[in-house]
Amino acid sequence: MHFPEYFKPDGKPVISFELFPPKTEAGMRTLSRHLLPELVQLNPSYITVTYGAMGTTRARTLEIASLIKKEFQMEPACHLTCVGSSRADINGILKDIRDADIHNIVALRGDPPQGSDDFVQPKDGFGHANELVAFIRDTEPPRDPFGVAVAGYPEKHLEAESFEADLAHLKRKVDAGGDIVITQLFFDNQRYFRFVEQARAAGIAAPIVPGLMPILSARQIQRITSMCGATIPPDLEKKLVDAIDDDDKAMAVGVEQCIAQAEELLERGAPGIHFYVLNKHVHIREIMDALPL
Ligand code: FAD
Repeated sequence: MHFPEYFKPDGKPVISFELFPPKTEAGMRTLSRHLLPELVQLNPSYITVTYGAMGTTRARTLEIASLIKKEFQMEPACHLTCVGSSRADINGILKDIRDADIHNIVALRGDPPQGSDDFVQPKDGFGHANELVAFIRDTEPPRDPFGVAVAGYPEKHLEAESFEADLAHLKRKVDAGGDIVITQLFFDNQRYFRFVEQARAAGIAAPIVPGLMPILSARQIQRITSMCGATIPPDLEKKLVDAIDDDDKAMAVGVEQCIAQAEELLERGAPGIHFYVLNKHVHIREIMDALPL
């Protein structure tokens, strides 16, 4: 199935999970033998697999997505970024994705690789995600288009000069052919509701799927939010400070926070939830068990 087929008006909330490719063979074994069987049991609509800086995980992203499809009969989506790839490279990757019978792509610009501050447009490559989306649409066979998701930022992208400018760029991605928007993680639902309202006012009609990252460790989430610009509200911050050296406690805080956010989002009409599962499953089971799905 393709992204738009999941998001029917009045349809069930669409739950999806996001994984990242492990760096080692041992990590790959854990993923295929333990993590994926557990996650698949929770019956998400699809599982997306991230793409590392400079295409470092290119082969792994496709390998894991193929595994999800073939071994677990579940729909995967491959993330794909513009970092370090020419048009010809991207064309080759798209062909590999299609040959693996994968129908969905999360199309992104990507972050600069570790050690560099600025995104550098590759020679004969793309400078922004809207160009990648347009390229996918221009080069795919019209009778079998990909489902394409793009990224949205309820608290604005860190590099954007303003929220309004960022929203205008989001519209360009959707107008270029993005079927759905998946948001960056956030901890204050009001930011999501405001973002959706402003996106609708700006003429963006695509489903906007909230991305939630259940916290597993206080230090880890502080590092992640400092990189992506998500704000931790003061009451949550206080609980995390109390759990700074106790990951079990931090996870309990994270599960409670995530359930409360997901319940309200679904109650107020979010089309689904995209969980950044951070390659763990125990916390996700607790959250899924608590939700009225
Ligand atoms: P863009 O949409 O290109 O935006 C980047 C910046 O440029 C923004 O500030 C925007 O306002 C501005 N901009 C956009 N279009 C234009 C334009 N045409 N002209 C001028 N300015 C413009 N990173 C990875 O490396 N691998 C992954 O697998 C990955 N998965 C992700 C999944 C999700 C759901 C999300 C939310 C993020 C993910 N990221 C991933 C992170 C993402 O790559 C970064 O946030 C990156 O910095 C921006 O990517 P983008 O696709 O939003 O870029």
